[in-house]
Order: sequence, then C-alpha cells, then structure tokens
Amino acid sequence: MRPPPPPSITDALFLDFDGTLVELAERPSLVQVPPDLPALLACAAASVGEALAIVSGRRLASIDALLTPMRFSGAGLHGAELRTDPRETAPPLESVLDGAGQWLAARIDGDTALWLEDKGAALALHYRGAPQRADDAERLLRDAVAGLEVEVIAGKYVFEARPRGVDKGGAVRALMQRPPFAGRRPLYVGDDATDEDGIRAAQALGGVGIKVGEGSSAATFHLDNPAAVRAWLAAVVKPGQAAAEEPAQI
Ligand SMILES: [Mg+2]
Repeated sequence: MRPPPPPSITDALFLDFDGTLVELAERPSLVQVPPDLPALLACAAASVGEALAIVSGRRLASIDALLTPMRFSGAGLHGAELRTDPRETAPPLESVLDGAGQWLAARIDGDTALWLEDKGAALALHYRGAPQRADDAERLLRDAVAGLEVEVIAGKYVFEARPRGVDKGGAVRALMQRPPFAGRRPLYVGDDATDEDGIRAAQALGGVGIKVGEGSSAATFHLDNPAAVRAWLAAVVKPGQAAAEEPAQI
C-alpha cells in the first residue's frame, strides 16, 4: 500500500479517532490529544466545505470533550449516533444492554488486567495490559450480553458489544446522503478492524480507503501512524490554492 495524495477540496473526510488521529493509550481515557489537533481538524474541515466527520467507537460527547473547543460532524458508537450539524448534541440513546454492564463490572471486580468501558449503549472490555487474556475477555463479554440485541466485535486489545446492525460502513453511507457530504468523494482513514467497514463503504461509493499502521486491509492507501495522518491532513488543498493547483487525482 502506498501513501495517499493529499485530500482535495471536493472530498469528504471520514476519520477514525483512536489510533488514527491520536496514538492509542492503555485506556481510552488516557489518550494524549496533540494541542494543535482541534485547530488542524477545523482547518481541514473548512477546506472541504465542513464535510469532515469523526467516525469512532466512542460517544460523540467523548469526541467533543477531547477536541474542545472545536466540534465536528461525526458518527459515535460506530454509527449508532450520527451528527451532520456540529452544533447538535447527540440525543441520548436507548440502551439495549439491560444491566449487562453492571453484571460484567461485578464479574471482573479486582481483575487489574481487564478494564470495562461502559458507554451506555455499548460495552467495551479492554485487555491491553494482558494480551494473553483475549479469549477470556471475549468469553466474559459474550456471557454478559447473551440473549441481547447486540453483536460482539473484536478491535485492538478490546472486545466490544454494540447494537446489532450498526457499523462504520453504515455510518459512511448514511452521512454521504446528507449535506455537506452528499456529492463528494469519501475518503475514509482508520487503523482498526472496525474501520474496514468504513474503508469498503468509501471505496464502494467511488472513494478512497486509507489504512493506518500495521495489518491487512481492503484499503488502497496507507499511512504509518497518527503523526503521518495529521501531516497528510495539514496538506489538504486550501481553497485559495485551488485555482492554481490541480486537485489530487487518485
Ligand atoms: Mg481506531
């Protein structure tokens, strides 16, 4: 996979957050957001007519808190939350988890290798501190949500239970039907297994998939790490330059 040309002003940008815009941390709450990231994203968004969305497994409220004072369009909880107007606050979601979080929290109480992130409408069980516990973590989460309308997916050192039928590909397709995304070429950038749905959706819509970091991917293009993603975003063709420069052809 080769590095992508810079985004052009006629593109729509779909960006995963953890591992794509910021380096992964042992826990999602411990990520370090580069101080210039909110302004960089705002600048990139302005360059593409505000057609920039953060597509994350986090709640939109969590993304907002990390990128304050800026807010962006986006999909939270893999697409269970959608927002095309950054001024909107995501409506509270009906949780289908029905006490599964409390049950699981009690089961792993005192277990320092596993860490439960209860997102309300989704549950993530992290085992980053103990990679050998993958099978154990998956079994515990599956037991917790047995019989509920959720599906369990694997990410990087995490298993997550999320509402059934929701994925980042669906988020891209839904956002691409709405302004300011509609009519643009979607570029999807992500690092994890759950991003492959977004990458495939973007490519199926005539757009571009960009894989960040190691691992196999359906993407055509590749960037090494979040620092490379941020440098690539900074190179977006600015409106003032558009007349002088041919938009990048991919
Ligand atoms: Mg990620």
